[in-house]
Amino acid sequence: MIMNYENSIGELHEECGVFGVYDTDGNDVVSTMYYGLFALQHRGQESCGIAVSDTNGPKGKIMSCKGMGLISEICTEENMENLKGNIAVGHVRYARSGENSIHNTQPLVLNYVKGTLCIAHNGSIINTDKLREELEQTGAIFQTTVDAEIIAYHIARERLKSKSVEEAVTKAVQKLEGAYSLVLMSPRKLIGARDPYGFHPLCIGKKGSSYIFSSETAALNAVDAEFVRDVLPGEVVMINKDGIHSYMSHENKKQARCIFEYIYFARPDTHFDGVSVYNSRIMAGRILAQTHPVDADVVVGVPDSGNAAALGYALESGIPFGMAFVKNSYVGRTFIKPKQALRASSVRIKLNVLPEVVRGKRVVMIDDSIVRGTTSANIVRMLKNAGATEVHVRISSPPFLYPCYYGTDVPTGDQLIARKYTIDQIRDMIGADSLGYLSLDRLGDMLGKDLGFCDACFTGNYPTKIPDNGVNK
Ligand code: SF4
Repeated sequence: MIMNYENSIGELHEECGVFGVYDTDGNDVVSTMYYGLFALQHRGQESCGIAVSDTNGPKGKIMSCKGMGLISEICTEENMENLKGNIAVGHVRYARSGENSIHNTQPLVLNYVKGTLCIAHNGSIINTDKLREELEQTGAIFQTTVDAEIIAYHIARERLKSKSVEEAVTKAVQKLEGAYSLVLMSPRKLIGARDPYGFHPLCIGKKGSSYIFSSETAALNAVDAEFVRDVLPGEVVMINKDGIHSYMSHENKKQARCIFEYIYFARPDTHFDGVSVYNSRIMAGRILAQTHPVDADVVVGVPDSGNAAALGYALESGIPFGMAFVKNSYVGRTFIKPKQALRASSVRIKLNVLPEVVRGKRVVMIDDSIVRGTTSANIVRMLKNAGATEVHVRISSPPFLYPCYYGTDVPTGDQLIARKYTIDQIRDMIGADSLGYLSLDRLGDMLGKDLGFCDACFTGNYPTKIPDNGVNK
């Protein structure tokens, strides 16, 4: 079987992380912004940016530092020297194809008659063509290809007819179809908004006189802030010097949290809508042990998200847990993928096996997903080369069958191995002795409580309309 060695560890990407801070006593928030965003780096490594303003300064004065690269490369001491202020918005981004340009880095800053509007967006809007056309027909000229600019334009237009910026945001987001967790900054206010389905997380934190919006609670911990609450699906939250104010843009929509945030995207030390990501991964492992048991000597997880699921499998099955992989954490965006013949070894640069853990043993290997199959085949081969006598692969998600339209890069159907092959065929292609996926009917159990979630990339049951050129079932 010929396989395309075009991937290595980390086949799937979340597309963005957002962070915002407002200190109501006027203290500088740049360092809180920097460390908070740093804790969200896993959500996007291709570009990043920080925009800062002073709520007591001149309206419209925003200083920013943005660029292509990691936060440590872009937000250097030198580049941030002049950034000062008590209100800030930050963004990390992984770009979809065709969007990887400096013009598309966020936060975006828009100047209009009411002052400035600064926006950072996590998610993907489905009706952008229509919204863009509506604006272009009335003379708008776009400088980027990202949804954030379209959203910002619509907010700016609503602002001309509204009493306040929060009213404008509440009205503008009603036109959006799709996934958005937004953080916005006006001259005097910080605003967070989440789509009515609640696809991606957004929470509120507090540290002294500073209020914070963050994609993940882990970033609140990183800046020593306390968790206040999650922004509700369909909620617009405005923060000014008087505190937190809440408005609902939508009511009674079916909620559809991205289940893959729990399985893979979010950090294990994050809580998303009251559910611990770590506990949900442990639970996924336990369910796999119940539904796909096997006689084996050691359970190992593919880092990072496979580790907690492997521990869950070990706890449930009684098979010892082992740390079989050493991950090179320093392989970043600049890692150059080798040519075809060498691509298999690129996995080994990112991940190495400890033979002491697997030699002469029957191994259960837990991973979060199989996308194209290449990575799994390489890792199984590495385990066998290191002396494992059997490798039983267990996947803590159901098979990917459909693309994602909500801000993650699950590819189109024909690139997904499970779309073309049966589970037995995939087992043979990746060289495993057995293969078992988390079953669809147990997917919700990993959350431990009754929360609405999206499983469209496994089922094709999209909670919203999908683009006209989208992949049908
Ligand atoms: S389609 Fe999949 S990856 Fe996309 S939001 Fe739904 S669960 Fe998440």
